Formats: sequence, C-alpha cells, structure tokens
Amino acid sequence: MHKGRWPDRELARFSLGGPHDPGGALTARRPGHLFWPVTSLLRTCGLLFKSWPDYPSWPVTVAFRIVALGLAVSALVFSSGLCAGCLRRPAPLERTEFMMDTVVTVKAFGASQEALSEAFDVMRRVDALMNRYSEDSDIGLLNLHAGREPVRLSDDTMECLEEAIRYAKISDGAFDPTLGPLIDLWGIGKRADFIPSREEIERALKLRGIDKIVLDPKTETGFLKVEGMKVDLGGIAKGFAVDRAALALKRRGIRSAIIDAGGNVYVIGKKPDGSEWRVGIRHPRKSDRMIAVVEVSDTAVVTSGDYQRYFEKNGVRYHHIFDPATGEPARKLISCTIICPSSTRADALSTAVFVLGPDLGMDLVERLPDVEAVLVTPRGEVLVSSGLKAAGNVRVLPW
Ligand code: AMP
Ligand code: MG
Repeated sequence: MHKGRWPDRELARFSLGGPHDPGGALTARRPGHLFWPVTSLLRTCGLLFKSWPDYPSWPVTVAFRIVALGLAVSALVFSSGLCAGCLRRPAPLERTEFMMDTVVTVKAFGASQEALSEAFDVMRRVDALMNRYSEDSDIGLLNLHAGREPVRLSDDTMECLEEAIRYAKISDGAFDPTLGPLIDLWGIGKRADFIPSREEIERALKLRGIDKIVLDPKTETGFLKVEGMKVDLGGIAKGFAVDRAALALKRRGIRSAIIDAGGNVYVIGKKPDGSEWRVGIRHPRKSDRMIAVVEVSDTAVVTSGDYQRYFEKNGVRYHHIFDPATGEPARKLISCTIICPSSTRADALSTAVFVLGPDLGMDLVERLPDVEAVLVTPRGEVLVSSGLKAAGNVRVLPW
C-alpha cells in the first residue's frame, strides 16, 4: 500500500480504529497527548516554552499551528475592533439646507455623501411638484387650469392628493386641501396684518370642497371643477417629502438617521448605541424651550403650531392653520404633535387634529391605530394620548 510520506506509525496514530488501530489509536497515547492541541496553541502563541509531549508529525503540527495562529490573530483583531467600537461611536454625516420654506437637516449614521444628496434631491423634487406658488409645478398647473381642463399629474402628486382627500374624509373636513383661495386671502406671512371681511371669507370658502376635485388614475390627470379653485398641499406635502427621503435612505441600507424638516421629524431605527431617539416638542410660547420630550424609533413626529406663521393685532393672534368651518384661524389648540409611522399621515393629522381641537381631535387619535398625540390647549394644558401614556415614553415638562 502506498503511504506517501507518512510512515506507518504516523498513520496509525491518526486513525480511529480500523486495521492500523484496532483499539483506537488515541486511546493508546500517553496522557500528555490529550492536551496536545492546547499546548500546541499556547506554544504557537508564545505562551508556553516548556517542552511537552508532541506526538503528531511535523506537517500536522505546522498546519495546526498556522490555523491556531490565524485564530489567535483574528480573535485579537476582533476584540480590539470591539473595544475601539466601544470607545469611538461612528460619527454621523449631517447636512442642512433651506427648502420647502424651512430649514431641513438630515443626520445619518453609516451614510455616504451621495446618500445625503439623494435624500435632499428627493425632497426637492416633491417640493418642485407640489409647491403651488410655482406655476410649472403639478399643483400650480392644476390650479391654473381650474374649471377649464384636466392636467397631467406625476405619480407622487397623484398619491399625495389621494392621501389629502382621504384625511379630509377621515377628519370630517377639518383637513381641507382646497383652502388655497382662503389662504391667499389672509396671506399670513405674505402680507402684513390683514384681516379680511366676512364677505371675503365666505366668497373664498365657496371655492372649497374635495367633491370638486376629479382624479383619474387611468389618464393620470387631475381636474378642479370650478374656476378660481386652488389646491394647497401645505398641510401634507412636507410630510410626504420626508417619507420619500426616509425611504431613499433606508434603500441605501441606512439603519440610524434623523430627518428634521422644521416641525416634521422622522427617525429611522434607533441611535447607534441602541437607545431610542429623543425628540423635543417645542414650547408653543417660549421658542427656546420644550414642552415635552418623546423617546421613539422608526416613526414620524410632526407638530402643527400657531407660532410658526402669525401676526398679532389688538392682542389677538392670527395664524396660518384655518378652520374650514369658519374660515378663521383655528383656536382650540396652540400646538398639536402627531406620532405615527408615516410622516404623510402624521402631517395631515397634525393639521386636522389642530383644527378639531382637544375633544374631537383626541377622539380621532384614539380611534386610529398606530397614532399617538401630544396636544397643548390655549390654557397651557398638555394632553397625551392613551397609547403614549401607557408606553411611558413621553416626558411632559413644566410650563
Ligand atoms: P401644518 O403646519 O402641517 O399644520 O400646515 C399648515 C399649512 O397647511 C398652512 O400653511 C396652509 O398652507 C395649509 N392649511 C391651513 N389650514 C389648513 C387646513 N384646515 N387643512 C389643510 N391645510 C391647511
Ligand atoms: Mg400638517
């Protein structure tokens, strides 16, 4: 029988039973051999210098030592990597730009500059489609052709309009995407201290109504039935843009990030240390303070407030969120924060619940699954939805 370079003695030693080893060669070893793998490993690592019974032939010993050395080096590299990881947390990439009429910041862990650029590009694109003040945007064109002809809409605009109509229905009209004429009449933040007459308000309100919007997914068109009608997606489009940006980051494999688009916050995953993101809710009357802090992961936290755009006349605050029932600024709340997994939903609901007020608004929140809220009344009371209270991840701060 050809045995190559291996003498009989060596072959016998490594067979477990069989013709060369009837009783099992390992059983025939001296007691020291039981420790051979250990001693060899220690010797390889330079931790054992004393001679020790060494039965295997040199090729096996060398091979074993190479493997052992490899394992030892890997263990060293792995443990030093872990230690370095403990000491040095990965630094996030952060970028801030002005868009959608607000300051937008994206902070992402494990991201590339390209990923951040894509997030901003996606938001810029949504803004370009839905900003009604731009005449070549989808919504600008839709409004321009009101009462005359249908207008071709992009998939995103169609989807956002459908969502807006859905939340108008869910909120019994408190959220109304057809308030364009009323918003223009008041001109909050656009012209100074103007309070329109009742007649002017009534005239503007005649042009509202989601029943006057016709969307045709087959022809991918939208049509406003009455001339002078104007769709305004200011209460939902930012949330939609943030959802799209979050999706872009997630598709690039980012597991930990925060997008903050002025009151529209979305958190991806948890912080790299495994803890939840802490999102502060601004104090509605003291701009440098917070009224509450929520600890959340993978969710949107969107706030509507009467402090974002307003003017005061004779001690009365006139702000940018209107009650479609009266045509005047909504007065039942001064801040409304919605927490739910979709930023689009949270945005539409923050405006809707702000208009509905503490009773009807909180009723709506409690009826909707996965939706939580923190509301602030004009008297400074802070109301927290039952799910958020039960989870214990909200801290209300003193007024
Ligand atoms: P938000 O800050 O999300 O509450 O959105 C406020 C913006 O939504 C306003 O600046 C208007 O463009 C628009 N808006 C105002 N009132 C309403 C309303 N009742 N329903 C829908 N959009 C509204
Ligand atoms: Mg909103």
